[in-house]
Amino acid sequence: MHEMGLMEDALQMVSEDAEKRGIERVDKISLIVGDLSNVLPDALRFAFEAFRQTEEIPRISTHTCLEIIKERGLARCVLCGKEYEPTEYLALCPDCDMPFGVIQSGETFKIESYEGS
Ligand SMILES: [Zn+2]
Repeated sequence: MHEMGLMEDALQMVSEDAEKRGIERVDKISLIVGDLSNVLPDALRFAFEAFRQTEEIPRISTHTCLEIIKERGLARCVLCGKEYEPTEYLALCPDCDMPFGVIQSGETFKIESYEGS
């Protein structure tokens, strides 16, 4: 489950940034997770829960909550220009039936923002 490592990295980054800004406790973290990012939101929530319970990362504890903002997958066909939502990574264009879709969005995994005091 690579979400454990991803979540640890994200929490470390937030924790270090919060330290620089003089924030003592992080109340909320918002992450953007794309449908095509290979990151499972449920696994992320599970990892987050584990880290906030153990309180091993400074400024992240049980009062911290997690928001996951999903980014929809979108591809554009290079042949006909049609935009469509791919059902899998190498998706076929619904019009041309050719695998020439270029991913436009949905691969994001990043920290959108966090709040604390
Ligand atoms: Zn097409």
